[in-house]
Amino acid sequence: MNKIKQRIRKLLFQYQRLSILKKFLLAPIFGIVLVLPFYVFIFLSMLEMKYSAESVNSELIPIYEISHENILLLENIVNEMNSAVLAKEIAWVEASNKRADTIKENLNKYIGTSYKKELKKSLKAFETYYLEVKKVSKKMIQTSHNYKEIEDDTKKLIDNYTETNMLFKDLKLKVKNEIEKNFSSLYDNTNFIFLKGNEIFFIWFLTSSFIIFLVHRDIKHRIKSIVESSKEIAKGDVDFEKRLCTVSYDELGEIVRSINIFINKLHKSHVQLSLAKKELDTLYITDRLTNVYNRVKIDEIIDMELKKQKRYDYVFSIILIDIDYFKLVNDTHGHLLGDLVLKEFAAILKENIRDTDFVGRWGGEEFIIVCPQTDEKGALALAEHLRNSIEASSFTAVEKKTASFGISTCQKNDDIASIIDNADKALYRAKNNGRNQVVYYKN
Ligand code: GH3
Ligand code: MG
Ligand code: MG
Repeated sequence: MNKIKQRIRKLLFQYQRLSILKKFLLAPIFGIVLVLPFYVFIFLSMLEMKYSAESVNSELIPIYEISHENILLLENIVNEMNSAVLAKEIAWVEASNKRADTIKENLNKYIGTSYKKELKKSLKAFETYYLEVKKVSKKMIQTSHNYKEIEDDTKKLIDNYTETNMLFKDLKLKVKNEIEKNFSSLYDNTNFIFLKGNEIFFIWFLTSSFIIFLVHRDIKHRIKSIVESSKEIAKGDVDFEKRLCTVSYDELGEIVRSINIFINKLHKSHVQLSLAKKELDTLYITDRLTNVYNRVKIDEIIDMELKKQKRYDYVFSIILIDIDYFKLVNDTHGHLLGDLVLKEFAAILKENIRDTDFVGRWGGEEFIIVCPQTDEKGALALAEHLRNSIEASSFTAVEKKTASFGISTCQKNDDIASIIDNADKALYRAKNNGRNQVVYYKN
């Protein structure tokens, strides 16, 4: 059983390696292989017919003809002997020699055939009869009508004649039967070949059609899946986890492999593009120096918060932060160190806000924090916490730095400009009040 399975698998594997044209050609070829034994059978039957027809032509018909001629010649000889006896002409007895020679010649001519035995027997009987008939005829002519004297001879002669005639007729009949038998077998064989021919055609036709149907179904199914995948690719709905399946090495297998290579490349480009897009997206919303959000993103966040505030019973606050006397840093330590301080400052803000808050660089040494769902109290607490953290931190080269904070909580009818403006006003007050402090905006 396992061996059969292995063989089927091997055959299927070989089938998969064929081109489409060869797959279709399999059908008639397989059909021919299947009907080959029938062809051999027919070929043998035709050979048999050929030999039987040849034997009828070269042997049976000539033997039948000479048998017929011999019977007539024998009758002639009898008549000639009778005439010689009646006319008492001894010379006439020899007149039949020519016919007798023809009979002998006829019989000898086909002695090499399968009727050797019958021909030899007939020849022997005829020779005996002919010798006897000549002898008795001469005796009858010379004994002047005294038939009594030759009664025994006559009896013997009649026996000889009867035997010879019977042998000639038997041979003719036997050959006639054989010819009939051969013709009937030729007829049977022709019928057989005709019927077998029809059977062969039907078996070949059905097998070929069935194989063509199977090959067609296989190819149709594969083309359908290729078309569906191509449509998906054209629509841009490629499932990168999926690949077209193929076990075939024909033209369609090649197409499927090419499509899979194309999907692989597409997948690779897609991954690279996604990564690049992610990077670009991050770059687009990130401040390059401090790694916190830039103004673009902060604007977007405030816009979203405003929308939420308009739709729900919602409150949010923003905190504007400005580093105190930052110009001094640049002036004393240079711009590069000033940049480093900005970075360290941003990092402190990032570390000390809540996960739900957003920190961004508003410009220069000013930062902004958007605090969703945060009222005055919450914003004040956060700003105070940040102020303390900055005050307690140590910056590179400059050691200590402080910052001033201006807070505004979004009120009804506020827009982005008014909120920022309010926070800016509060920040201005913080600066004016002596810096390093938090001021909440109030009308
Ligand atoms: P205060 O805010 O306390 O009134 O004093 P200040 O010295 O901070 O005043 P001001 O706002 O006028 O100065 C801001 C300085 O910040 C001016 C500018 O040189 C510096 N600055 C702005 N952007 C950058 C930056 O990206 N890198 C560096 N190193 N310095 C910057
Ligand atoms: Mg400033
Ligand atoms: Mg400043």
